[in-house]
Amino acid sequence: MTTAILSALPEEQGGLVHALQAAERIHHAGRSFWRGRLLGQPVVLALSGIGKVAAATTATLLAERFGVARIVFTGVAGGLGDGVQVGDVVVAQDFLQHDMDASPIFQRWEVPGYGLARMPCDAALSAIIFEAASAYLVSARDRFEPDNSAIAHHHAARAHRGLIVSGDRFVSTSAESAALRQALGAAGHQALAVEMEGAAVAQVCHDYGLPFAAVRTISDRADDSAHVDFPHFVRNVASRYADHIMHGLLRLL
Ligand code: SAH
Repeated sequence: MTTAILSALPEEQGGLVHALQAAERIHHAGRSFWRGRLLGQPVVLALSGIGKVAAATTATLLAERFGVARIVFTGVAGGLGDGVQVGDVVVAQDFLQHDMDASPIFQRWEVPGYGLARMPCDAALSAIIFEAASAYLVSARDRFEPDNSAIAHHHAARAHRGLIVSGDRFVSTSAESAALRQALGAAGHQALAVEMEGAAVAQVCHDYGLPFAAVRTISDRADDSAHVDFPHFVRNVASRYADHIMHGLLRLL
């Protein structure tokens, strides 16, 4: 039962590659895949690349070429929901492509051919990641890690569960994120976070019948300061979250 651990950026993958035992690097289709063991479990670590097409290609390769049994995504995202702050963690219940619009032929956001707008994640796998993420946040809080100062808002980081939306845009103005929240909310889609890959991976996993779950740490609020908050968080904090949460997950699997 090989678990694929996908991230978009090398900084998100960070320590996981270093922790890999019996590591073997495989180049294919312009990508690097790392096969090995983490905590004794067979894993493949891969970078999805940025955006939906790159992520779909990587996910397809993980299914076809590596025969993985499940895919887990760990990365960062912009916070959209009320109370979803930098340093919080969001575990996806389902994913929607916020830039999918084949209306009026199909309902806005519906993925043609699938009859749905929201691609569900695997409930059992998501519950385990949520447990691992919550446990990490509690332990980080108790340790008062000095690096916590890297989190702009000094609040007790929280774990959330809900809808994450993906699209081929880095959402970096308050006007755009407000418009996105408003349009989606009016149709009953309360989005907690926005990123650029998850919905594509969810769709590929849906096609292959592969369990999929995703955890995103909030690096910015998808607002006018996102261009400052995002690189700062990715450089200083993202890989620590990914490391701890993925190790916690593998312990619970
Ligand atoms: N120049 C940057 C581009 C990263 S794009 C770089 O290469 O370092 C942002 C990445 O973080 C994407 O993988 C996306 O999934 C996630 N992300 C974080 N904040 C986001 C936001 N506000 N809007 C969209 N994606 C965001």
